[in-house]
Amino acid sequence: MDPIALSIFDLFKIGPGPSSSHTMAPMLAGLDFLELARSLPLQAKAQARGVTVQLFGSLGAAAEGHGTVRAVLAGLMGQDPGHCPPDLLDRLGIDPDQAQAVDLHGAVIEVRGRDIRPDRLVHDFPFQNTLVFTLNGPNTSDEPLLTRQYFSVGGGFLQWPGQKPPRRGQPVHPYDSMRSLKARMEEFGLSLHRLVLENEMAVSGLDEAGVQAGLDHILAVMDQAVQRGLAAEGVLPGPLGLMRKARKIHERAMGKRRPVDQFLAFMAACAFAVAEENAAGHVIVTAPTCGSSGVIPAVAQVMRELLGVSEQSLREGLLAAAAVGFLAKHNATIAGAEGGCQAEIGVASAMAAALLAQATGYGVQVTENAAEIALEHHLGLTCDPVRGYVQIPCIERNAMGAAKAYTAYLIASDVVPAMHKVGLDEVMAAMRDTGRDMCTKYKETSLGGLATCMVTC
Ligand code: SF4
Repeated sequence: MDPIALSIFDLFKIGPGPSSSHTMAPMLAGLDFLELARSLPLQAKAQARGVTVQLFGSLGAAAEGHGTVRAVLAGLMGQDPGHCPPDLLDRLGIDPDQAQAVDLHGAVIEVRGRDIRPDRLVHDFPFQNTLVFTLNGPNTSDEPLLTRQYFSVGGGFLQWPGQKPPRRGQPVHPYDSMRSLKARMEEFGLSLHRLVLENEMAVSGLDEAGVQAGLDHILAVMDQAVQRGLAAEGVLPGPLGLMRKARKIHERAMGKRRPVDQFLAFMAACAFAVAEENAAGHVIVTAPTCGSSGVIPAVAQVMRELLGVSEQSLREGLLAAAAVGFLAKHNATIAGAEGGCQAEIGVASAMAAALLAQATGYGVQVTENAAEIALEHHLGLTCDPVRGYVQIPCIERNAMGAAKAYTAYLIASDVVPAMHKVGLDEVMAAMRDTGRDMCTKYKETSLGGLATCMVTC
């Protein structure tokens, strides 16, 4: 297998929720198709009359609740997730017949929300979440001027046939599994966070100060999402009429008599805060996805405010968390549509457990064990967002993922590391295989589980 050559900035993406695979990646697909269309000869662009987009798999089944149509429109209008104004997304979601101008540089065409349509749930494309973009000519019977398939493979990552790998450096300490990662650490006498940092510098081309600045920015955006979510009140968008709860949980956490209750309620409030911000379509950091974006910030906030962990230790913890996310992406999946919620909240919980272990000074074996325990106890978790909205069960699930991360960290740090039986590589393989065997309806389609058993009228 090829070595992992991902950047931490591929994994921790900043942008609007509610879904990395259904919102961020479709926006990137729209932007890429716009650039492709702009590269056509002027004569072809002059003939263009519009764009149609087919949404296959869970992308179509859960398009409404994930804001997929407005995300594609925004991409076609030249927006990218890191810079798209949330109020533009809000406006694009209102009227499916409202024409939006798409500037092809030399010709301007109109695209409407109704041009972006759900298609088959079951199909033959190699990835469950597929988008097919077509630039149409003057007559519907004409050959399309341009067409391209895009695969949204989780965590906001996008692939397409014939895609050229981005030009970037190669890792200086190549690994493709936890086992080989530990072997490289031993070979070069490096700590886990130092190895990830040196690989990051080689892959991204940034110097150490640049990587540290990027980590600080990620931690700052996570913190901002916590603070905004703790201050916000009201009803979240969508038909569920779900009230925000983070502020109330936070207020009541402070009044709890027992310190252990205060601790757990504070962590839950922070996880709710970010998950509610995500559900509102506001800016969060994928960690590793939008739906699971509350787990790591909640644990980080607890470490800052209740455990007194320094910012430098948090940076080092985030590098360890990134290594766990890389391994999951490389050897299994981080997409709910591919592996169910074990791949999102389960991986987020494993990353958070690694963050805790690394940032509080434990070695690689405790860090691996903590991540393994956290993921092991999410195995088999299905993805069943009610009515396709990343709200129920997703918001509460972020709080549960944070609590499991903390418990996993406690278990791992309290036993002799060598007594641990299951390795991170084994549990990742189990997660991958469980995801493959999982019935499609439990993989972000809203056709099974809570999504069909909960009465939402
Ligand atoms: S159930 Fe889990 S995987 Fe599915 S959308 Fe919600 S958070 Fe993501």
